Amino acid sequence: MTKDTILKIEPFEIKEVGVVKEFKRGIARIEGLPSCIYGQLIEFEDLGRKGLVVDFNEKEVMAFILGDERDIKLGSTVTGRNEVFSVPVGENFLGRVINAVGEPIDDKNPNIKNNGQGLVFRKAPGILDRIPISEQLHTGTKILDAVIPIGRGQRELVIGDRQTGKTTLAIDAIINQKDKNVLCVYCWIGGAHSSLLKIIHTLEEAGALDYTVVVAAPASSSAGEQYLAPYVAAAMAEYFMYSGRDALVVFDDLTKHAWIYRELSLLLERSPGREAYPGDIFYLHSQLMERAGRLNAEMGSGSMTFLPITETLQGDITGYIQSNLVSMTDGQIYISGSLFHEGFKPAIDLGLSVSRIGSKVQSEALREVSDTLRLDYAQYKELMRLMRVKTKLSTEIAEKLRRGEALSRILIQDAHHPVPEIAMIIQLYAFKRKILEILSPEGLNVFCRDIMEYLEETRPQVLQNLANQKTLSAEIKQELDHAFVEFFRKKKVL
Ligand code: ATP
Ligand code: MG
Repeated sequence: MTKDTILKIEPFEIKEVGVVKEFKRGIARIEGLPSCIYGQLIEFEDLGRKGLVVDFNEKEVMAFILGDERDIKLGSTVTGRNEVFSVPVGENFLGRVINAVGEPIDDKNPNIKNNGQGLVFRKAPGILDRIPISEQLHTGTKILDAVIPIGRGQRELVIGDRQTGKTTLAIDAIINQKDKNVLCVYCWIGGAHSSLLKIIHTLEEAGALDYTVVVAAPASSSAGEQYLAPYVAAAMAEYFMYSGRDALVVFDDLTKHAWIYRELSLLLERSPGREAYPGDIFYLHSQLMERAGRLNAEMGSGSMTFLPITETLQGDITGYIQSNLVSMTDGQIYISGSLFHEGFKPAIDLGLSVSRIGSKVQSEALREVSDTLRLDYAQYKELMRLMRVKTKLSTEIAEKLRRGEALSRILIQDAHHPVPEIAMIIQLYAFKRKILEILSPEGLNVFCRDIMEYLEETRPQVLQNLANQKTLSAEIKQELDHAFVEFFRKKKVL
């Protein structure tokens, strides 16, 4: 397989005609089409609708209807060509909102010129085509980049209750890819159309839509489209990966994808398994997750990072997650409802979150300043728990508490304000030097907000050296120490 196979799909020219015999909530039963194949695209003639073959036997073919299903009638003719389903892909899809069959649904130019076709159900790259993940995907969220680093090519699950900031975290990761040579695909499945519009607006405001493709299958779209959307999103990103670039795909969210697949499967009379999800939901999601990865030089060195989102009920991480996505990914970011309500946002639970790729993708400087953060934070949380029963504080404990408080203040971050890596390194270096816990809460906010500006004014060379070397040399450390003291005096934050 070569990297440009994505651009060449040879259809075998067989055109067949069938007739709709029955139609039930998004699924059509069709007679005819004797040589159809699984995953084939069919067309409802005269109506301009498309369908996807998902089941067949000697007598009939079952197909999901894509798009508006209201005008499908008994006896409508259906044509099919024996080719597997593919969607147009390419550069011009960046900045656009498309539906699950690759057609634009925004108000820009309705004809998008494609660079080729992408197979929707493409097989994942083989093991020999891949290399280990070694480069970090900076999300701009301090907790993630410092403590739970994500590599380019990794699959990291975002899991949490409703309304706890899952989407925000993923959108911020997209916003942070500006000028970083990572092209993004945001896939919206089963959510409200109005929420999607807000997200698109946020991306546009942040200048992130220019390098993002939005694949939208909101709740108002047909069940078939909602089922297809994540595969189409993967196909879009694969075009970038196979042309040697790095891509990031957000699936928001796969819980709704599993629901819609359950609904369709029950209508297809497939036997239900646990909680009425069909057994092959595991196969479906694991096959999708496998498509992420980093390709070797022969394949063009591209990569595809996945951030699938899934929902929990009342924080129960051990509850039944439709397809056990935790085991199909390289780690999970657990978002806690209680932390969110306490005001610790982004509400990432450091105890339960993990990235199996780990700190090896981080720069030396970031690794150095973040190596004890998880432990510091865990100790602080434990002390807080103990404090509920103990009232008298020893000076040592009071100091630890102050330090923990400073750390949680540093880690709190507003939505849509990603922090660049260098700023992160500087804030965490100051924490490591134990000088932030002596500041008042306001002082700490001023430090996080203004220190970069101060350094840019007074020591641009130090910042430049840090950006080039990505290590904290003794010289840089000394300069930073001086700068911190000057900054504290100037801003009177002590
Ligand atoms: P849903 O379950 O509905 O998909 P969600 O988990 O995706 O919700 P979001 O929509 O991202 O959650 O966020 C819920 C609310 O929390 C939004 O109003 C958002 O602005 C706010 N929020 C999220 N992250 C932060 C943050 N870091 N700081 C402040 N507010 C935040
Ligand atoms: Mg959401």
